[in-house]
Amino acid sequence: MPVIKPTCVRDLKLRVNLADVVARMVTLRKAGGARLKGLCPFHNEKTPSFNVDPDKGYYHCFGCGKSGDIISFVRETEQLNFSEAVEALGKRFGIPIEYEEGSGGPSTADRTLRQEVFDLHDAAAEHYFQAFKANDATGEAMRHLWTEQRRFTAELADEFKIGAADATGSGLGAAMMRRKFSEEALRRCGLFFVYDDAAISLQSLRPRFRGRLMIPIRDHQGRVCAFTARQTDLTPADDPAKDAKYVNSPETPIFTKGNLLFNLDRARTAVGEGKPFVMVEGQLDALRCWSVGLKTAIAPQGTSITEGQLVLMRRYHTQVECFFDSDAAGQKAALRFLPMALKAGLEIRFLTLAGDSKVDPDLLFLERGLAAYEEVRKSSLSAIQFASRAFLPSPQKATSEQQSRAAQSVVEIIVSSESEMTRANLIAEAARHLSLQPKIVQKEFDGLIARLGRQAAARPASPPPEGVAPALPHTAHTPERDLLLLCLHFEDIGKPLSHSLPHDWIDLSHPAGALLNRFLGEFEHGLWPGKGHLENLLETDAERTMVASLLFATPGFKDPLKVAQEGLRQLRARALEPRLRQIELALANPHAEIESDPISLLKERSELHRLLRQPITLAASV
Ligand code: ZN
Repeated sequence: MPVIKPTCVRDLKLRVNLADVVARMVTLRKAGGARLKGLCPFHNEKTPSFNVDPDKGYYHCFGCGKSGDIISFVRETEQLNFSEAVEALGKRFGIPIEYEEGSGGPSTADRTLRQEVFDLHDAAAEHYFQAFKANDATGEAMRHLWTEQRRFTAELADEFKIGAADATGSGLGAAMMRRKFSEEALRRCGLFFVYDDAAISLQSLRPRFRGRLMIPIRDHQGRVCAFTARQTDLTPADDPAKDAKYVNSPETPIFTKGNLLFNLDRARTAVGEGKPFVMVEGQLDALRCWSVGLKTAIAPQGTSITEGQLVLMRRYHTQVECFFDSDAAGQKAALRFLPMALKAGLEIRFLTLAGDSKVDPDLLFLERGLAAYEEVRKSSLSAIQFASRAFLPSPQKATSEQQSRAAQSVVEIIVSSESEMTRANLIAEAARHLSLQPKIVQKEFDGLIARLGRQAAARPASPPPEGVAPALPHTAHTPERDLLLLCLHFEDIGKPLSHSLPHDWIDLSHPAGALLNRFLGEFEHGLWPGKGHLENLLETDAERTMVASLLFATPGFKDPLKVAQEGLRQLRARALEPRLRQIELALANPHAEIESDPISLLKERSELHRLLRQPITLAASV
């Protein structure tokens, strides 16, 4: 395994601004001083508690307790190991990564499978793209489909690297074999059918996509991680999915359908105040939006939208306009989407055309361009207006039975919201749209809550709801934690403290104690590496989290010496007082079984009294 030089890691942390790393995933706003704030990428929240201090190079979430530096951020958000995270950062910010001599550099064999599968997809996208542009029968047919049938431009194809898989698909296997990807990567990339026991060869790599138009799917960072393949006239008769209009990549080490939104990598930079996301049904709809200048369009991957996708989206913006086909399938998709979106804390509106006309977003934008967007926005519906209309199309003519059924269906959606205020507003709104008294809708709602409560009570205890952080042991105030905070913010005090604090006073059963003990050992031997370079001293995630959160904390005191003395006093008392009480008890009770004679107990007691009364001084300050 190649080992990255520690000096190189240090250099990386000095040169790369944490805010630049985090901003790829989290929209940050100023939060006083140099600090920045945003919605936490590690837990579901509606008000930002994720804090970034670019000066110190640390982030901390006050909601879920996650903390760390640039490297841990990349590790956790991109599921990379330490070396991969460092390499990824180096690549992104143009900082060369150096390796310890003799440990070798990254070679094909050392790249992890995930990275290799990403590289493979990059190469495959290029391969398909070249096939799309080629002056042969396949290229011509695909370009014809793109420009004549779908009426997209050649520039759009270039921009999104639209590709083509020819009817045999055999070229891809050969191209990937030439690139020397590992057998494991070829087997698991999802672009081939491979029998598990077959040795990989050009013959055993049977392409999954043949005779199809290839749309590369990128993750939120813009890396190609899958493909959607559209059926064409070239799709061969023996394609196992011949009749499927669209075929997607299967799940692979880099692709989970439910965690991906098409075009999010581009749309996330276009959203902002007054520019919400526009959710459309399919990838080609999103491409249509893009082509007319509506850059905020995204599409779920596959037919159904998942909570994972909504959480991902909400990192960037909380407002979404849904623009689904007005056919039955589109309406059903919208109603399935609504409760999830409310639960995720998104503000949703539904784009529609005035009147009752059927809308196909693709066709509408194709014919009318961006002007159509303004028009459908004008007649857009709120979430509850949309739901009320779906459940009760004409409230004026409805029977009270129909009204009541509609109210039941609508409150079942409202209950998904976790905000009391939102619920109250939505109930009032529902009453208006259903032509009912608010108190009637409220009663339906209360009834539902009671039913849900009874069901919940009948179930075994469930874990705390998402977003509610459990009590975190590392935030508990112990003398060890205070002294640790001190060592990290006033490094000069580390050495004197190490000479004044006996090791056996420290409680090693918690990360704070274990760390304090380890840090003081370093100070004592003059080996303290400095608070910016603690990687080698941290052994567990709990320790890393603890240190990052302490580095992030602002010490609320002026006189570090006083705090050190108080910490020492508390530890001393905690270490010695129980023994003193034990002795007192033994001496007071003549029948007690005593482990040693009264004389030595008396001696020990006076020694303990002496120690406990001794003024606390830090060794070096004496
Ligand atoms: Zn958090």
